[in-house]
Parts: sequence; C-alpha cells; structure tokens
Amino acid sequence: MRHLQICHLNFIQRGTMVTELSIVRLIAPNPSPLTGPGTNTFVAGDTTGCIVIDPGSADPNHLAAILNTATQMGNVQGIIITHAHLDHMGGAKELMITTGAPVLAGDKGPQGVPFAAEVVYDEDTITVGNHEFMILATPGHRFDHICLWHSLSGTLFAGDLIAEQGSIVINPDEGDMRDYIQSLERLQKLSIRNLWPSHGNLISNPHVSIAKYIEHREDRERKILLTLANSGVPRTIGQILPIVYADTDPSLHQLASQSLMAHLLKLENEGRVTRKSDESEENLWYMS
Ligand SMILES: [Zn+2]
Repeated sequence: MRHLQICHLNFIQRGTMVTELSIVRLIAPNPSPLTGPGTNTFVAGDTTGCIVIDPGSADPNHLAAILNTATQMGNVQGIIITHAHLDHMGGAKELMITTGAPVLAGDKGPQGVPFAAEVVYDEDTITVGNHEFMILATPGHRFDHICLWHSLSGTLFAGDLIAEQGSIVINPDEGDMRDYIQSLERLQKLSIRNLWPSHGNLISNPHVSIAKYIEHREDRERKILLTLANSGVPRTIGQILPIVYADTDPSLHQLASQSLMAHLLKLENEGRVTRKSDESEENLWYMS
C-alpha cells in the first residue's frame, strides 16, 4: 500500500481531533439517457483542503462552482477521476491548469486519463486535511475504474459501479462482466453507510442496492442460459437480445447488446457457453 500525501503543506495535525468531512455534490450540466441528471462532481474535505472527484464537464459555470466550493475548503489538493469516460474526466484538465492540483486516475495510458499526473493503485491512501481516502480498484464497468473509500464516515464514492437508477452498461471492449460482479461483491464487505453514485442521488440502503445489482446480473445470466437451452440451435446476439432484454426499452437495446456480449464472454470463459462463426462471420452461441 502506498500513501500519497498530495499536499503536505496544508496538512495540519490536530492531535486526536478529527474535523468533520464535508461533501459537496455539484451536478455537471451533461444530462443524457446515459448520465441521468448529469454526472455528480464531489468536493470532499474539511477547512484545510479538499479533493475533487470527477469534474465531469468543462462548462465554465460548473468549473466556477467547483472552484468556489473548493476555496471555502482550503483549495483543491487533488483531482480524482473514477474512470476515463468523458462524462467523468471532462473539465479535469482545465481544473488542473487553474488549480495546479494533480490529476490521479487508475490509468494514464492512451486508453486512460492521458494527462493524469499519477496512476493510483488498489489500497493507496490519499490524505487531505485530516481525512484519509482509500483507493479501491474496482474494474468491470471499465478496466481503470476506481472507487474512493472514506472509512471514518463509511462513505463510498462509487463512480459507475452502481447508479441510483437503472443498470450499468458493460462494454466488453473496455470492461469485463466477471470483474464487474467481483467488484460489486467486494463492496459488500465494507461497512458502507453513505453510497454516492456518479449518477443520481445518495443511495439510501447501500447493501440492499448492491445485492440487487448482483442479483440483476445473475438473473440476466440465468435468462441467457435458459434462452440458449430452450432454443436448441445456436443463436446470434440479435436473436438472444429481445428475449433476454424483453423488459428493456427497445431504444436501449443497442447499449444492452454490449452488456449481453459481456455476459456471453463471461459464460464462455467459464465453459458454460460456446460460440462458432457462421459464413457471415457472425458469432453463434450455444450451450456447452
Ligand atoms: Zn462510465
């Protein structure tokens, strides 16, 4: 475990007294079917410094609101990106230039946050003012996904591991369904009291929600296996999708096909389904 004290200058040891953690949520002006009301930007810290989690947008008013909040908390000491999706890392470069604070992310390669100052790893800790945050590597939605855990208050900043509403898209080009479920299972071991997703409101009953997310994936998996078992002949994704995602709005089927592919790849890895290509090179899936 490494300890990243991102601003030693402002670190004030106050004996046994721990100042309360302030969390300010600012919603980035990027609403969409995927981002809900917009990405949650969090400014978290005390009067001696703060971190900004997922600036989300370079909109000048949004950046001004972040800076205004941060100023009241002793300025930005670090900018944390939960994963390299534009609706999370947007505005980070601008904020970095304005504040001089380093950007920390799970990956800074071409597929990650290229302008990140440093890559953070599982169980790294970040001290800001009197507060310590732990990085939890939680791949699945994306390979570089991290959560931030403040154990003292039982607060988890969950990024896109969980949302207040709907489910998380797993695109197998950059994510992995098995990793995703394992990351959710890891959260079950924490004593989470406050679960902040990147999209939507505070999740009021964290452990019930996490269990539901896991059940939802297991349910989809059961439906996929049942569909293939009932069909008796190999099926394409286009044939499986309307059956397994019959409860999903057809306008979301394109996105759902990514998660379906992620499920099939997981099942293939486990030896439970097999694929072959037909003449048109389309994958056909069947029970192993
Ligand atoms: Zn995302």
